[in-house]
Amino acid sequence: MTFDKLGLSKKVLKAVEASGYTTPTPIQEQAIPHVLEKRDVLGIAQTGTGKTAGFVLPMLSLLEKGRARARMPRTLILEPTRELAAQVEENFRKYGQNHKLNVALLIGGVSFDEQFRILDRGADVLIATPGRLLDHFERGKLLMQGVEILIIDEADRMLDMGFIPDIERIVKMVPFTRQTLLFSATMPPEIEKLANQFLQNPVSVSVAPPSSASKTITQRAVASPSEDWEKRAILRGLIDNAKDLKNAIVFCNRKVDVSNLWKSLDKHGYSAGALHGDMDQSSRTATLKAFKDNKIKILVASDVAARGLDIPDVSHVFNFDVPVNAEDYVHRIGRTGRAGREGAAFMIVTPNDQRGFEDIEKLIVETIAWDGEPVEWDEYGGKRRRGAKRGGKADKPDERKRGQKTRAKPDREEEPAGKPQKAERSASKTEAPREDRAPKREREDRSPKRERGPSRNTGRDAGQKDLEISDKGHAFGGEENIPDFLR
Ligand code: AMP
Repeated sequence: MTFDKLGLSKKVLKAVEASGYTTPTPIQEQAIPHVLEKRDVLGIAQTGTGKTAGFVLPMLSLLEKGRARARMPRTLILEPTRELAAQVEENFRKYGQNHKLNVALLIGGVSFDEQFRILDRGADVLIATPGRLLDHFERGKLLMQGVEILIIDEADRMLDMGFIPDIERIVKMVPFTRQTLLFSATMPPEIEKLANQFLQNPVSVSVAPPSSASKTITQRAVASPSEDWEKRAILRGLIDNAKDLKNAIVFCNRKVDVSNLWKSLDKHGYSAGALHGDMDQSSRTATLKAFKDNKIKILVASDVAARGLDIPDVSHVFNFDVPVNAEDYVHRIGRTGRAGREGAAFMIVTPNDQRGFEDIEKLIVETIAWDGEPVEWDEYGGKRRRGAKRGGKADKPDERKRGQKTRAKPDREEEPAGKPQKAERSASKTEAPREDRAPKREREDRSPKRERGPSRNTGRDAGQKDLEISDKGHAFGGEENIPDFLR
């Protein structure tokens, strides 16, 4: 199969040729003809399958007819994170090089004024995260009646991040006669319901089930004691002894750990950067660019910040923590071994990770081999007892005090799907002062206007600093307040 059989316009084919791609990927082959026929499409595909071009290429062809009017975008693409939105924009620039289209990117962390100016010029393509889009709409800067094509990308991630009510609102704002494409890596019942609600007589296209890890990835589990400083020492050993390590992404479950681990690696002389949802957009973009340009060798990241990022050549993935959701494991290790390359994925496993570890093995229907001796599970079977500590004991009273004041917050950015009630329940059991509580869900793409107080976005007080780290008996005093499912 070649691209010219799919019905794409000449301008698009020229751009595809210039990008060096000769054969459509399976999702492109399946989806493009239907999108061009203006059918609704339900696509089950994860990032890395070429799904972005699967909708960008036919959209470019369709957009050749007609013009945008001020504040009335012709097409709307919803993405769960800023990085994914920026990546889609890059795709439009690459494949739209022969078109004169106005592409607007509405993401949090970027000034409104510049975004207003672009919208005023009339956007052919509007790529947005849901919260920022609603902010613009509420400020009267956006009219949605002109939307001809709506794309809801990474729908399952939208669900995880609590964006579905926003998506429902947005869908009500666009014309009923639009064409809708919905992409999701998995199809939980909630997404199936949405698909039935939003799509009309859709064509379903699907590639590689989300639970399958690429065969080119070597997966290993590594036993570790539970203290964070011990895990950091194990990680350094893994990095130092890794075979053919070119670069690596290290995943942590919580943003505070991303920050601490990055500082620790930096202190130990590693070339490292951090990526998580509390960082401002310019730092996120700069870190990502430095990693892609090979100026940083190790990227320490949270799931949401790194999800779906197209970094073609990552040799190693290290899971500093066993992920809370088994599916995240598949996404994490999928950052390596892309496009048929070899990749290696290591996961640090502590005695209290039994449940998470077994969930992963069940999902991937594989046994993960141990690098060295297997871990000895603790007596709680992966269910941490209430009041158990993680990350070491404070050996100095003043450390304990500081730890309590700056206690680590649950990383709502990575809150597991369908568990907000549990998180709320657990949070309410703690006796943290009201303003110190984490927000119900992290809405990283919201503008500050929507935030109720200084701690709304980050769950921290303004000016509050990350914990100091020490690899010798470092304490997270007060961590007993963290909900069980985040331990
Ligand atoms: P995506 O799943 O959209 O994130 O794309 C993953 C990677 O595949 C990106 O680096 C694309 O540039 C690349 N890609 C997209 N289409 C093709 C194709 N037909 N042939 C080879 N690579 C492609």
